[in-house]
Amino acid sequence: MPTFIDGKTIAARSQASTADEIARLRARGITPGLAVVLLGDHPASRAYVRSKDKTCRELGMYSRKLELPASTTQEELLHLIAGLNADPAIHGILVQSPPPRHIDEAAVVRAIDPRKDVDGFHPLNVAALAMEDPSALVPCTPLGCLELLRAYDIPTRGARAVVVGRSLIVGKPMAMLLLAKGADATVTVAHSRTADLAAVCREADILVAALGRPKFLGAEHVRDGAVVIDVGINRVEDPADPRGYRLVGDVDFDAVAPKCRAITPVPGGVGPMTIAMLMGNTVRACRALTGGE
Ligand code: NAP
Repeated sequence: MPTFIDGKTIAARSQASTADEIARLRARGITPGLAVVLLGDHPASRAYVRSKDKTCRELGMYSRKLELPASTTQEELLHLIAGLNADPAIHGILVQSPPPRHIDEAAVVRAIDPRKDVDGFHPLNVAALAMEDPSALVPCTPLGCLELLRAYDIPTRGARAVVVGRSLIVGKPMAMLLLAKGADATVTVAHSRTADLAAVCREADILVAALGRPKFLGAEHVRDGAVVIDVGINRVEDPADPRGYRLVGDVDFDAVAPKCRAITPVPGGVGPMTIAMLMGNTVRACRALTGGE
């Protein structure tokens, strides 16, 4: 039987330690504050924003949820971000993805003060991660994946890691984190143009799936004894579920799990870690902006 990597428990542990840090900051009169901006009413995005807001409050942080109509212009959004950049009550800013089509997401990311960029998408933070600068704010999902590997004592040093997906949000920062000194994995990044994806994936001691394709990676992509981290969150129709859909990962869990040393489930694997890392990043940003502990 593989080890089922329990993201809920590890996320709860991480959040408990973040709550302690928040309590220490509050004792000094500093309350970390996170602003989450949502444009439009994309149902999954709305659910993510609600859950970030709730977790913030539960941990004792200040949360500002800004729900704007999909018709908000680029100029209005940039004006709002400038206000948040200047607001001393706000230490973290994120604009929930995906924004409406008329918004230039890259320009929005560049407008966020990099010190408040708790998503870690600003070019200065991307560069800082590549340069292994410890002050980098690192994207939450890949950071959460690394935390899961650490929590389960899964060695990365010298391991062959294959990351499937090269997005700026998951694949690329995941590869950089695994490659960095200290993690020391030998990393391959695969994508939609990779030839013989199954053979590439079978080289992996650690396989990270971040494709956005439901149950795409099957038994033929996984070698015996591999560790599989499934980042995918896909809604698939399910008339038996009261919501009419259920969530599945990018990995065919039932086919793959028997071959693995350890695997993350979906839901309950990487998902809870993303929010936990966001809370941690906001506290880090707050400490840096307010002069440390
Ligand atoms: P994305 O921006 O759509 O990127 C997907 C990547 O997968 C691209 O690099 C694409 O290659 C590659 N890809 C697509 N089809 C492929 C195929 N058939 N073979 C090999 N590679 C393929 O997605 P993302 O934002 O990185 O998200 C990936 C998944 O993670 C999604 O399911 C998303 O919902 C989930 N996610 C989860 C969390 C969480 O908190 N757990 C957070 C963020 C994202 P090309 O570059 O060649 O197109």
